[in-house]
Amino acid sequence: MKWVARLTCPREIDKLTPFIFVSGTLFIVATPIGNLSDISERAKTILRDASVVACEDTRTSGNLLQHLGLKKPLFAYHEHNEQRMAPTLADRVAAGESVALICDAGTPTLSDPGFRVVRECRRRGLTVTPIPGPCAFIAALSASGLPTHAFRYAGFLPPKSAARLRFLEGIRDAQETHILYESCHRIEKFTAEILETLGPERVICLARELTKLHETILTGPAALIAPQMCGNNLRGEFVVLIAPAGFVL
Ligand code: SAM
Repeated sequence: MKWVARLTCPREIDKLTPFIFVSGTLFIVATPIGNLSDISERAKTILRDASVVACEDTRTSGNLLQHLGLKKPLFAYHEHNEQRMAPTLADRVAAGESVALICDAGTPTLSDPGFRVVRECRRRGLTVTPIPGPCAFIAALSASGLPTHAFRYAGFLPPKSAARLRFLEGIRDAQETHILYESCHRIEKFTAEILETLGPERVICLARELTKLHETILTGPAALIAPQMCGNNLRGEFVVLIAPAGFVL
C-alpha cells in the first residue's frame, strides 16, 4: 500500500473560511444533538458551499438543511452502504469536489458512519477537515461532575446481557471515567446491572435528552441513581458515565 502524508493547515483554512471555500476536501461537520441553535456559523457555511452533503438519512438531513434555508444534493452514506460508498465519496473529493459529511445528530464517525471514508481519504493523501460542534458524550462529560482528565468512550455495548456484565466486570478497578451510549429501552436494566456489578457507591451519571426540552442530568452513587430509573418508562436518548473506582463526588 502506498502511504501519502499531506499536511493540512487549519489556521490557513480558518483565516480563509467563510470567504474562500476549499475544494477537494472532505469536511466532517458536526450538527446539533437536539437544539438547532447549536449549529456553528462555520458548519452553516460549509453546508451552504459544499458540492454535496453526504448523510445517513436523507429525510432527517433534508429537514436540517431546510431549517437552514439550504437545498443541496444529498448522498446517502449509512451503516449499510458505508464500506461500498467510501471509495466513491473519496473519488469525488479527489476530483476536486468538496464533500460535507454529516450524521443524523452530533459528530460523524462517533458511533455513526464516517470512519471508512475518512480512512480512505487519508490513505490517498486527500484533505480531511473537521468542523467541530455538538457531540453527546462530550456534552455529557463536561456537565457530569465526573473526572474528565482521563476517560474512555466505549460507544454502545452489545445488547446481550452476558457481554454487558463482562464489560462491567472489566471496569471494576478502572482509573478513568467510562462513557457509553444507551437506549431508553435498556436504561433501567443497565443501571440495575451497574448497581449489582460495581456496587452501591460507584458514582454514575445519566445524561438524558441533552440540549432538549426535557434535559436531565443525574449524578450520584449508583444506589441513588438506579432506583430513579425503575418503572419510569423513560423516553429519549441517554449517555451513561461511570466514574473511576473509589471516586467520591
Ligand atoms: N455521533 C453522535 C454524537 O456525536 O454524539 C452519536 C450518535 S449515536 C448513533 C446516538 C446515541 O447518542 C443515542 O442513542 C444516545 O445514546 C446519544 N445521544 C445522541 N443525542 C443525545 C442527546 N441529545 N442526549 C443524550 N444522548 C444523546
